[in-house]
Formats: sequence, C-alpha cells, structure tokens
Amino acid sequence: MNATFHPDAFIRFLLDHGIKQGYFIFKDGTLQASHQALNPLKSEIETWPDFLEHEGIFFEVDANTNSLFTVFVHNTVRGQSSGGVRFKSYDTVAALFQDGLRLAKGMADKNAVARLWWGGGKAIIYRKEVFDLNDELRHQIYDGFGVFMAQLNGVYITAEDMNTREKDMISIYEKCRFTTCIPEAYGGSSNPSTFTAKGVFSGIKAAAAFKYGKDNPLQGKIALLQGAGNVGFHVMELLVAAGAKVFVYDTNPKTPEKIRNQFTTDQVEMVADGKTLFEMEAHVLSPNAIGAILHDESIANLKIDIIAGGANNQLLDPQKHSKALHEKGILYLPDFFINRLGIINCANEQYGYVRSDIEKEVELVYTDSLDLLERAAKQDCSPQEIAAEIAAERMKLAHPIWGHRGPRLVAEAIGNGFGK
Ligand code: NAD
Repeated sequence: MNATFHPDAFIRFLLDHGIKQGYFIFKDGTLQASHQALNPLKSEIETWPDFLEHEGIFFEVDANTNSLFTVFVHNTVRGQSSGGVRFKSYDTVAALFQDGLRLAKGMADKNAVARLWWGGGKAIIYRKEVFDLNDELRHQIYDGFGVFMAQLNGVYITAEDMNTREKDMISIYEKCRFTTCIPEAYGGSSNPSTFTAKGVFSGIKAAAAFKYGKDNPLQGKIALLQGAGNVGFHVMELLVAAGAKVFVYDTNPKTPEKIRNQFTTDQVEMVADGKTLFEMEAHVLSPNAIGAILHDESIANLKIDIIAGGANNQLLDPQKHSKALHEKGILYLPDFFINRLGIINCANEQYGYVRSDIEKEVELVYTDSLDLLERAAKQDCSPQEIAAEIAAERMKLAHPIWGHRGPRLVAEAIGNGFGK
C-alpha cells in the first residue's frame, strides 16, 4: 500500500486489515501511525512539502456508503482547529491527503489573520461519486461523518465547504456539537456568503483607495469578475453601487438571465469566455470562482492594477506567482486575508451571534488591507509575503485559556477508543 493507491483501493486495504479508524499524529517530534500496516504511508507523508508537522490526520472508512471520512489538523496553538468539510472525489490517496494538509494550513493562516482563537483544520469526505446523490444517501453519509467527528473530542470544528449544503450541516449537527454554519432555527448564522462578499469588497475598496486615492476610488473604474455565485454576485452588486462598470464571466448558464434581470448593460456586461476576461484592460480583477487561476500564462496577459477576490488559493504557486504579480506592478490582496468573513461568521456562532460584531469585522478588512499594502510598498515586496508573516506571527500566540490543547484532546480521544 502506498500513496499512489486509488482511494477506493485504500478503503479496501483498510477493510482487509480490519482497520475502521486510523490516524497519523505528530508526537515527540515524529509522525506516528495508529497501525503498523500504515507505516509505509506514514513514511511517504513525512516527505511531502505539504506536511508541515501537522498535529494529526484522522480517518474512518464508512463501508455502508463506500466513503472515507478524513480530518486534517494543522495546529491547535490558537485553539481548536477549524475549517470546512468538502465532499470530493480524488484519483489517489496522495492527492486527497495533500489537499487536506494544504487546506488545513490555509485555514490556519486565515484564522490567524482574522484573529480568531482557532487553529487551522479541514475535513474531506471522499467518495468516488459525489454528485446527483439522493437525499437519503447524503443524510447517511453526513450523519456518519458527524458520528466520526464526535469521537475526535472537539479537536476539529467543522463548517460548510465545497459540495456541502446547509442540510448536510444539520445532519452533522444532529450527531456532533462541534459544528458551525447551521441554520438560524438551530441557533446558527446560516450561509455566510453575503458577509464574505462584504469583506472581499472592503479589500477591493482598500486597494483602490491605496492606488487611486480615498475619494470614491471605484467611481468610473472597470472591474473584471470571475464567478457570480454566492460570493461573486454580491461583490458585483457592491462594485456597481460604488460606481464601477463590471465585466463578468461565469460558467453557469443561468447567470446571464439573473444579471439581465437586475442590471443594465451600462452597469454589468457578460464576457463570452474566461480567457478573454483575463486579457481585458481594466482596473480591478476579482476572482470569485475557482483556485489556481494566477499562473505564468494568465499573469503574462493581465492588464490590470489590482487583484482582490474571494476564491480560495488563487495563486498556483504562492511564492513564485505573488512575486511575478509584484514585479508586474499589480497590487495583489491575498485571498485568505480578505475572504475571512465566512469563517468569522461561523466562529461567532460559537460565542453567540451579534450582527454588529460582524459589521465591525468588515471594516477591519478595509483597515487591515490598507496597512498591509502600505507595509508591502515600504518593503518593496508582495502583500502575500507580509500577510504570510502576519499569519506565522499570530499562529505562535497561544489561546489565553485553552492554548495548544489539541494534543490533550487527541490523547483523550485515543484513550476513549478512537482508532482501535
Ligand atoms: P458558488 O458555487 O456559489 O459560486 C461559484 C460561481 O463560480 C458559480 O456561479 C459558478 O458557476 C462559477 N464558476 C465555476 N467555475 C468557473 C470558472 N471556471 N469560470 C467562471 N465562473 C466559474 O461559490 P461561492 O460560495 O460563491 O464561493 C466562491 C469562491 O469563494 C470559492 O473559491 C470558495 O471556496 C470561496 N469562499 C467562499 C466563502 C463563502 O462564504 N461562500 C468563504 C470563503 C471563500
């Protein structure tokens, strides 16, 4: 068994070895596997650049639904690890685990810059088929995931993410209290996208103020928007309200009609394909769809001043491509710096929800972004570099009461039988 295995083959391997649950935990300076049969995989994980001494990887086979539940914990110095659960298919165990490790670290950065008393975590439910499942099967999967998560003793707090719906969050919540993004009727705050969009727009406004001056900086400007979904559509509304003309590309065939019903062509125009959007001359580009869209080829064609959007992991290679944008004179606001309102919304559910607190956080994205851009300009480097430094510094600061408690939570979970 090695990391090139298909996840379905990994599931069979686990079942053949009588392993229903397992883990890899970083303890006493080494990575340790729950079962001897997992040692070859453990040795591979240790060599991956995405493995940054993460505190733990936890998994369970759900034979009834042919799913693999996984949780990745980056670190718990600032508090319990938190991040969304995505429902996704992968071709190899390496692709699945590396994505989980990378996403958990990304959440650690985002939670730290957001000043949340949370560490970074992420969960992935793997299944070969993830689309067009009936409600009963989805309920069975997310219910099983909730039972799995409950056994992790709170080291990971979940939220909504790719291909997971509000209904799925209810299924998890019915089995596990360490759940956010639940509907208001359950004491939650529901879908956070509107606030995410407000935060993203604060970032755009700050970059425009930095570049063009603080007086109506978006009035008469041209903005390019990739993705007009839950986040992007609201960003578009805010751009139009601020006086910008928006050009949009979205792959959903229903989007043009939605746009025509709300905006005039003086306000918003659709663009025929994604490549054209990235080659247009404009002031702002706001990516709000998918990741890895900023790479050698796309950057070479850009004719814009500012990039600020909500899509996660926009830079294909964060170091290389943030540097390339800086060298081209494009102001790039890192996604994890400005799309944080989603997770802040979820975090606040845990302490009781006060809407005005969230509005203050929207303002904070504006002032933080201005500070970030000023520091980057002074040091003649990419804002990405400074944002990563801010995250790394804040990640060292332990929760004032529950600092770095994750390893104790895990020890308790294992003592209670997790992984046996
Ligand atoms: P969504 O699914 O509601 O919207 C995505 C939109 O992008 C859809 O309209 C889809 O048709 C379009 N799209 C997909 N592929 C495209 C492509 N190649 N080119 C152009 N359009 C494309 O998702 P969302 O909730 O709006 O999230 C958008 C992005 O923001 C994602 O990367 C997500 O991870 C990130 N994000 C969202 C939140 C949140 O609160 N929803 C929080 C933080 C980060």
